Amino acid sequence: MSMAMRDTEIVIIGAGIVGIATAYFLTVRHGKRDIVILDPRAPMSLTSAASGENYRNWWPHRVMTRFTDRSIDLMEEIARASDNRLHMTRRGYALATRRSEIDGMIAQLHQGYGEDAARLIRIHEKGGAGTYKIAESADWTTAPDGVDVVRDSDLLRRAFPSFDPEVSTVIHIRRAGDISGQQMGQYMLDHIRGAGGRVVQARLASVTRKDRFDLEVVSSDGTARFRADMVVNAAGPYVGEVAAMLGESLPVETLAQQKIAFEDRDGAISRRMPFAIDLDGQTIAWTEEECALLAENPATAWLTRPMPGGIHCRPDGGDGGRWIKLGWAYNRTPGPFQPEPMLDPQFPDIVLRGASRLNAALKTYLGRLPRQFTHYGGSYTMTKENWPLIGPLATPGAFVVGALSGYGTMSACAAGELAAAHMCGGALPDYAGVLGLARHRDTALMAALTASGDKGVL
Ligand SMILES: Cc1cc2nc3c(=O)[nH]c(=O)nc-3n(C[C@H](O)[C@H](O)[C@H](O)COP(=O)(O)OP(=O)(O)OC[C@H]3O[C@@H](n4cnc5c(N)ncnc54)[C@H](O)[C@@H]3O)c2cc1C
Repeated sequence: MSMAMRDTEIVIIGAGIVGIATAYFLTVRHGKRDIVILDPRAPMSLTSAASGENYRNWWPHRVMTRFTDRSIDLMEEIARASDNRLHMTRRGYALATRRSEIDGMIAQLHQGYGEDAARLIRIHEKGGAGTYKIAESADWTTAPDGVDVVRDSDLLRRAFPSFDPEVSTVIHIRRAGDISGQQMGQYMLDHIRGAGGRVVQARLASVTRKDRFDLEVVSSDGTARFRADMVVNAAGPYVGEVAAMLGESLPVETLAQQKIAFEDRDGAISRRMPFAIDLDGQTIAWTEEECALLAENPATAWLTRPMPGGIHCRPDGGDGGRWIKLGWAYNRTPGPFQPEPMLDPQFPDIVLRGASRLNAALKTYLGRLPRQFTHYGGSYTMTKENWPLIGPLATPGAFVVGALSGYGTMSACAAGELAAAHMCGGALPDYAGVLGLARHRDTALMAALTASGDKGVL
């Protein structure tokens, strides 16, 4: 790389889905052409490559529902414009519980959907009209909207014959499904490059600001320098490190999470099953002997204790596919970020046992997972309250778009649009303020968010 100083209007640090989406909206909404995205890695190859690529408009707080609803609107626009290049599907999220008392869950749905709740939420009790059914196809354009709360056991068994018979309620979030995040990133990169934007394979080593930003970047060719009017910190798990180069600190932490995927050669899971989540906590059903062995070792004793809810399973690869994906974000302990995630060899067995509680047919794979299975992981980079950080940093001309935790694929469009609007003086939604660093000065909001038992971590 030549040592020549390069001049550019905007430098974005990070070519994950979030940096790319920011560049995309700067390009298509604000006509920006002079954009450089810096990343030492191939685009979309760090956290964005580990994403389960699911989306949902289900959140315990109205702000997050509106933020992801906006993102889904934008993803649908791209799906329409690109003949569904991003493989968007919409079978929904099916949240299953055995609890008989669900008033708290209904209240939370109302909190999340706010003024739209009465229009969106449909309750199906025994003796009701019985109109609920799951969709025949995964087509997002014909899928229903809203939320079905299914309490009629006949309807429930018909729609979810594979579920634990103890399940008494399924809350079916209809505006939810999955996309190919990699395809979305590629689509955006095509537009960015077509307008003159560039991805430069280099790592930001330092940045200073006088009248403009002066960035020192390192690549296999050596060191180079850029001058820029604006910089965007979209460095994913390194968002804190990049902010520190500007002398700023961000309230973020990283949590390692893992998933598995494998070919469902025994057909344990119906291809029509939505993304299914067992909301109830559980103690894994080990045999007495296994339990005793695990309990006597301090490193494994936790596996015999109650585990949180939120274990999930979904068919992967569309109606014609054969693979399934399983995950359980039970790790609640932040730790230092590891670019090569430490995969716990016990995780596949743990997640399989946990998921078999809702879908007993999965037990067929206990101790005999197909040889061709993938076990992968990454980190959720998040704030304690699990809301993102999008907006100006303290340094004039510097912006952050990060802390997108386990929902950065689904919210990248809204995050990128919002960051671009902040940068270019565009119209801001009324929730823009609370999605930025400023919310940490709102003590009442912060107290309410940190006190909330459910932060929407999945
Ligand atoms: C296991 C797992 C499952 C998930 N499932 C889902 C899901 O189902 N749905 C969903 O919406 N989200 C999901 N997520 C979350 C989603 O993947 C992330 O929120 C999203 O990918 C974050 O994107 P990013 O661009 O911020 O970060 P990244 O993809 O990590 O990109 C950041 C980039 O910044 C670059 N960078 C860092 N420092 C520098 C520097 N100094 N100079 C230049 N470049 C730098 C890095 O190399 C990296 O490429 C999941 C995450 C994990 C870990």
